[in-house]
Amino acid sequence: MKQCPQCGKFFPDEVTECPDCGVATVEFEDPVAEEKPQPRRRSRLIYAFAYLSWLVVVPMIEEHNSEFARFHCNQGLVLAFIEILTTTSFGILRAIPVPILQTVLGCIEGAILLACFVFSVIGAVGALTGRKTELPLIGKIRVID
Ligand SMILES: [Zn+2]
Repeated sequence: MKQCPQCGKFFPDEVTECPDCGVATVEFEDPVAEEKPQPRRRSRLIYAFAYLSWLVVVPMIEEHNSEFARFHCNQGLVLAFIEILTTTSFGILRAIPVPILQTVLGCIEGAILLACFVFSVIGAVGALTGRKTELPLIGKIRVID
């Protein structure tokens, strides 16, 4: 029997990674003052790459078997897509020669990009701490599963 060192759930021997936490499962041992094994820190660092724009390809390739990694890659991809769509469409709108409109559009674009940045930080912190942090508004969108 295997056990998740993070949440303590039990799994069959063939399960190598906890579906909830994304940490490597370990052989279950009776709790006789045993030191708890450390979760795979390298993996978590790679999961956080999901929120660094095009670096999302790193966890997608390295950890494609991990449901936890796919969860974070999905959110990272949605954010990257929103960012590209925002900069592209507002870039086109910049051609309209109305100064007051440009000020308003600049504020809207800035607000969207700032929100994307904040969401990326929230998601990356979730990945680093082994959590599936569903982001507000965009967390329900699925581009990969
Ligand atoms: Zn777990």
